[in-house]
Amino acid sequence: MVSNLPNYYRLLGLVASAKPQDIKTAYRRLAKELHPDLNQDSTAAERFQSVVKAYETLSDAKLRRAYDEVFQPAAAQAAQAAQATQATQAQKEAAASTPGVVEGVTNLVGGLMEKINRRWSLGQDLRYTLSLSMTEAYLGCVKTVRFESPVRCPACKGIGQTGGSDCGDCQGSGVQLGERVFKITVPPGSGAGMLTRIPGGGTPGENGGPEGDLTFLVEVAEHPMLESDSQHLRCRVPLPVTTALAGGRVEVPTLEGSTSVHVPAGVQNGQVLRLEGGGIPGPGPTPRSGRGDLLITLELELPEKLPEEVRKLLAEAERQAPSDAYPRTVAYRKRLQDLVDD
Ligand SMILES: [Zn+2]
Repeated sequence: MVSNLPNYYRLLGLVASAKPQDIKTAYRRLAKELHPDLNQDSTAAERFQSVVKAYETLSDAKLRRAYDEVFQPAAAQAAQAAQATQATQAQKEAAASTPGVVEGVTNLVGGLMEKINRRWSLGQDLRYTLSLSMTEAYLGCVKTVRFESPVRCPACKGIGQTGGSDCGDCQGSGVQLGERVFKITVPPGSGAGMLTRIPGGGTPGENGGPEGDLTFLVEVAEHPMLESDSQHLRCRVPLPVTTALAGGRVEVPTLEGSTSVHVPAGVQNGQVLRLEGGGIPGPGPTPRSGRGDLLITLELELPEKLPEEVRKLLAEAERQAPSDAYPRTVAYRKRLQDLVDD
């Protein structure tokens, strides 16, 4: 984290041994050049702020000393060597062995770190929408996700500088466009909604600021034949009227593909058959835990064509039907008769 601090001397166009007067002169020149009121360039305001921060630190003797000790070891050594010629050995020993001095430096560094933290920007949160089929979303799957997004420059590790000059790979921004690859496990019963949050999976912040988070959201595509109804699934199935009369089997769609369901003789139009455990799995440990049902609505279909012998057989079937075989027809005939009789 510490190494992400910009080189304040470089920002002001100075060397580490610059005198206080040089710092002031450099700051005045740059402030005039970059002041947002005078400079319309889009990057000027940002650079102006950086220059102000650099000047605030380097123009304060205590802050500059703390900055040098932590971030510019070479400059600090040079300064110490210069001081050593003036200080006596006893003074140096006293300073080194006094806890108060150490604490003071720590506080200065702490204050400096606070300034640096304010310069950082947080990276952006990213949200990736994972479009899944109903089968993938409810039965679970493993998906490999690839997308491009800004990443920390690998060459300079996001600092923007290598060897004291702008990083050639990212032109000093510390950020590059990179391919991100994630292997996402979608557990059974996931459905739509947030799947997983990866802290630090977002884009990196400026000046080495921390990355945002990455969230995977599951979006469930419509199934061509199945409709979800809380934990249940619904489908509408056409059924030949002869199967409805005689009973038999009908093929129905499921999340897994399809399955054959028993149809009892005498089912009515619109009747709902229930296939237990054919619905949406709950988020339990086994695929079947808390799984809803498949609700099959039967839509009886009358034949559009009938051979003559079958027509004769059906007419015979109607004549032989018990008197209570068609209760609605019986009731209708009675109402009609009563009307005529009155
Ligand atoms: Zn770089």
